[in-house]
Amino acid sequence: MSSIKCPQCGLVTWEGEIQCKRCGASLDPKHRDIASMLTVAGHPPDRVYSQSELRKALIKKLVLAGLVILLIVLAFVLIWRR
Ligand SMILES: [Zn+2]
Repeated sequence: MSSIKCPQCGLVTWEGEIQCKRCGASLDPKHRDIASMLTVAGHPPDRVYSQSELRKALIKKLVLAGLVILLIVLAFVLIWRR
């Protein structure tokens, strides 16, 4: 029988154990996945972006995309000229 480490407190228990004996965390892989998904979903965003900040970010992304397209076009033009 293999052992499994508790993701919460680090206590090593037997694999197949549903709950950690020390902290009560779910050790069942299925349950653990759901629990981690819930923590990610329930995690509040680091900061709330305002409308102007979002617009600035969007413009930055558009400028970057435009630059990338321009570089690709330039590369093609250079290749075709040869
Ligand atoms: Zn534990």
